[in-house]
Amino acid sequence: AAKDNGKQRVARYHLEMDLHSVEEVRLGAQLRHAIDASEMHLVYQPIVELPDGRMVGVEALVRWQHPQHGLVSPGLFIPVAERNGLIVTLGEWILREACQQAARWQNGPGSQHLRRISVNVSARQLREPDFAATVAGILRATGLEPERLVVEVTETAVFDGGAALESVWALHRLGVTIALDDFGTGHSSLGLLRTCPANILKVDKSFVDEVGGGSDQDVIATALIQIAGGLRLDAIAEGVESAGQADHLHRIGYRYAQGFHFARPVPAAEITELLRAEAAGSLVVP
Ligand code: C2E
Ligand code: MG
Ligand code: MG
Ligand code: MG
Repeated sequence: AAKDNGKQRVARYHLEMDLHSVEEVRLGAQLRHAIDASEMHLVYQPIVELPDGRMVGVEALVRWQHPQHGLVSPGLFIPVAERNGLIVTLGEWILREACQQAARWQNGPGSQHLRRISVNVSARQLREPDFAATVAGILRATGLEPERLVVEVTETAVFDGGAALESVWALHRLGVTIALDDFGTGHSSLGLLRTCPANILKVDKSFVDEVGGGSDQDVIATALIQIAGGLRLDAIAEGVESAGQADHLHRIGYRYAQGFHFARPVPAAEITELLRAEAAGSLVVP
């Protein structure tokens, strides 16, 4: 009887696995059509300078407007695209779209207020041997200056070295700016600072949430700004949601921040409007 129970358990386990993978395959197939069907678009979240909150750059974030499910979170579909390999095609589309938009801003009013555009790149993309060449081609085609593009990579994507880290070095040699995203949450944050040619540390929201509270996370946020300063890296505090956090971050030395307190991710047209307003404003200021 025990043996039979065991068999049943195994059967049910397989059934659940199948249902799960059916969902995954279905979503993956829909994802395959999403680019051609124009269901994907990018939104842009301002990165600001403390304490005044003036925009200095933006991060491009992908959105999927699914015909049945509505807006699907990248937290859900990016991992699917990574597993089925579609992230390579999707990621290239995202890079091209973001660089085209950034080139338009670069040549338009208020461009001095948008020094850089950040694009998230997955480990899977970095492992493509010709990834840096693809980026070089996009920069050439769009006319965007390489240092104006920030490639955001996570520690876990590059910590094991190999092809991913090679790509980051190749991007660095192209003059592209490198940011370590969600910094402090990975396996070897500090070790990576010696092997990865980073220009920017994006200090993870989990540290920012606790800032000023005297907790361990608070101590880490303070230590990270000192490490960044010592290594002459820019630090950006991620996920700033309150004026209190912004004040405290500024007081302990943070110069840049990003979060709902300052601005949510918005369509490109809203960033264009902001830049126009900044340009008009700086005309009247002597
Ligand atoms: P991330 O790169 O760390 O992006 C920051 C995420 O935090 C974004 O979520 C943003 O909307 C959210 N956020 C910003 N400020 C705040 C805040 O004050 N409070 C809170 N609660 N959240 C805030 P989003 O757009 O849902 O993206 C989630 C993740 O999905 C990103 O994390 C990134 O890892 C991935 N992702 C998004 N777009 C892309 C993309 O184009 N390519 C790749 N490979 N990954 C992407
Ligand atoms: Mg990011
Ligand atoms: Mg981040
Ligand atoms: Mg994050």
